[in-house]
Amino acid sequence: MLKWRQIQKDNFTKLEDLGKFLDLDLSYSSSFPLNVPRRLASKIKKRTLDDPILKQFLPSLEEDLPPPSFLEDPVCDTSFQKTPRLLQKYQGRALLITTSACAMHCRYCFRQNYPYNGNTDFHSELEIIRSDETIHEIILSGGDPLSLSDETLKPLIESLSEIPHLKLLRFHTRFPIGIPERITDSLLELLENSRLQVVFIVHVNHPDELDDEIFSALKKVGTLGIPILCQSVLLAGVNDDDKTLKELFLSLAHRGIIPYYLHQLDRVKQGHHFEVPVEKGLKLIEKLRGELPGYALPKYVQEIPFKNSKTDVTSDPLSLDRECKAPV
Ligand code: SF4
Repeated sequence: MLKWRQIQKDNFTKLEDLGKFLDLDLSYSSSFPLNVPRRLASKIKKRTLDDPILKQFLPSLEEDLPPPSFLEDPVCDTSFQKTPRLLQKYQGRALLITTSACAMHCRYCFRQNYPYNGNTDFHSELEIIRSDETIHEIILSGGDPLSLSDETLKPLIESLSEIPHLKLLRFHTRFPIGIPERITDSLLELLENSRLQVVFIVHVNHPDELDDEIFSALKKVGTLGIPILCQSVLLAGVNDDDKTLKELFLSLAHRGIIPYYLHQLDRVKQGHHFEVPVEKGLKLIEKLRGELPGYALPKYVQEIPFKNSKTDVTSDPLSLDRECKAPV
């Protein structure tokens, strides 16, 4: 078995085991099961629940007590389905739900209730993309596209590369943050041989998640001329202070990764306890603006269903109407 698959099989998926490892009594389970890679678990402080990595992955009682404004599908994914595995929200770009699997289960994930379909055949999705010349970029998402084997990714990337009007191929991934061994030589070869310009968006929320091996693995991707950007989610109790955000953005910039987006939480049913008030987010960004170079300060954004792009919260803070309703 491949090394990264073996490492993934060793993830913590039982609370009891994670509790023993951290010397904590953990008992609350949930329908979105625990899934934490060992690498991340080894960075969690022992004998305390007050840890910024643990909070992102530990099921809690609060998940079952959502206020009514927190929804199963807060970004209205299902309203934008061209097929159950192809979404198009914005002009020129389309998103492939490549898999439901991830290297880890983040409790605030807005797609944790998505009605995933287990096929790995993208035939009808490729047909739609082929026949729509206005699409210039494909986003591989999920789940995490790097959960797929290189053998599954290869024909998909090759088929996309053959579509003349496509120019860009974006990966949205958190996999290398938990299992950097996923950046295999065969994956690098696949990326290098693609006719499309590949772009990597990694997802990191706290500087404690990072280490030298992760940066080395990502550097191999960057060496191929692939831009690497980072998106983070503003999370209460995890990164909602200027010191943590500054350290995160500077650590990324220092290793050549551009902080791209800081997301206001998508109001998913199980994630309400992670929400940071927009007013606080705006103050944090204003403070950081005076302390970081412009390229190390991400855009503070929110996805608002049926808008034609992400909303820049700093320029449009009052527009946060989060309900799923199509324009009339
Ligand atoms: S899709 Fe991303 S945010 Fe959601 S659980 Fe997977 S890794 Fe976490």
